[in-house]
Amino acid sequence: MNHLPLAAALLALAPFTAQAQQAGEPGTPYANMNHLAPIGVRNDRYLTVPDAAKGPPIDPAKGYRTEDLGGGTYMVTDNGYSSMFVVYETGVVVVDAPPSYGAHLLAAIREVTDRPITHLIYSHSHADHIAATPLLGKVPVIIAQEETKRLLIEARDPNRPLPTLTFKERYTLKAGSKTIQLSYPGYGHSPGNILIHVPSAKVLMVIDTVFPGWMPWRRLALAQDITGLFRIMHEIEGMDFDKLVGGHVERWGTKADVIQQLEFMNDLKAAAATALKTTGIGEELDAADKTNPWAVYDNYIDRVVVQCMNTLEPKWRDRLGGYDAFIWDQCFAMEQSLRID
Ligand SMILES: [Zn+2]
Repeated sequence: MNHLPLAAALLALAPFTAQAQQAGEPGTPYANMNHLAPIGVRNDRYLTVPDAAKGPPIDPAKGYRTEDLGGGTYMVTDNGYSSMFVVYETGVVVVDAPPSYGAHLLAAIREVTDRPITHLIYSHSHADHIAATPLLGKVPVIIAQEETKRLLIEARDPNRPLPTLTFKERYTLKAGSKTIQLSYPGYGHSPGNILIHVPSAKVLMVIDTVFPGWMPWRRLALAQDITGLFRIMHEIEGMDFDKLVGGHVERWGTKADVIQQLEFMNDLKAAAATALKTTGIGEELDAADKTNPWAVYDNYIDRVVVQCMNTLEPKWRDRLGGYDAFIWDQCFAMEQSLRID
C-alpha cells in the first residue's frame, strides 16, 4: 500500500498547524491516524468499486432499467434506487415509488403490461422511496404498516398520500393468483419498515437494510435502532428467497449478500467493542481541555473510531463498494450504539 494519501492528508493540515494550532482548528493527527479521508475532508479519488458490486448498466436515454425477477415480479432501478412491481391476472401491485426515477416508473410498468395499478405498497415512510406516488395516478388501495401511517400523518406531505389500509404485524395480499406477504419485524432502519415477500417467486424486498455488494449507506443506513437492525438481518437471513430488492445500489441481492453484510456488521461491532475497551480516556488531549467533558469524549471517541477503522481495513476495503465513503460513519455509529443500547 502506498502512503500518498497519508502524505496528502498531512499536507492539507499543514496550513492549520503552521498557525500554532488556533483553538478549535485541526491539529496534529492522532498517533495511529487511519489514512482514509475522514468525514469532512475531500477525497480526491475514491477506492475502485469491485466488480461484484456492479449491476448491468442503465441506458442513459431511458434513465432506468426493468429486470424480470421471475414469477410475475419485476425490479425497476436507476442503479441508485430500486423498487418492485408484481403483475397478476387483472392488475399490477406496485411496491414503492422513488422520486429518483419517478417520472419513468409508469413507463417501466407499461413496458411489461397495460393492466391497471390496483395496489401500492409503501415499504416505509421515507420520501426518497415513496414520494413519486402522485405520478402513478389514482391508486385505489395503498397499504402500509400502521407506524408508517402515523409518520405520514405527521409529515403532511402531498407527495406521500396516506395509506388506505394498514396492518400491525402481518398482512397477506391476494392479487389474482399471486400472494404477497407483508410483515413487520419491528424497526431497525425506521418505524414501519416492512418485509415484502413473494414466496412463489422467491423474491424478498426490504428497503434500506441490505446493500448487495456495497457498504451500507452512512451510519448503518441511518438505522434508528442498531440493535434492531442486527435482529432483522438475522431474520432476513432465515427467510426463503433467491432474489432480494434492497432499494439502493446497482443490482438485486442474494442470500450470500445478506450473509456477507452480516459478517461485516459483526466485524464492525467486534472492532468497535475492542476499541472502546482498549482506548484510554484523556490521552493525546491538551491538559487545558481535560475539564471540558465534550472535548474529553470527542477526543476519546475519535481515537476509538480510528482504532475501529484500522482493524477493519485489511479485510474489508476491497470487498465492499464505497468502503472508503462511509466506513468512518459506520465506526462512529457502532461505537455510539455500543455505548448506549
Ligand atoms: Zn429510508
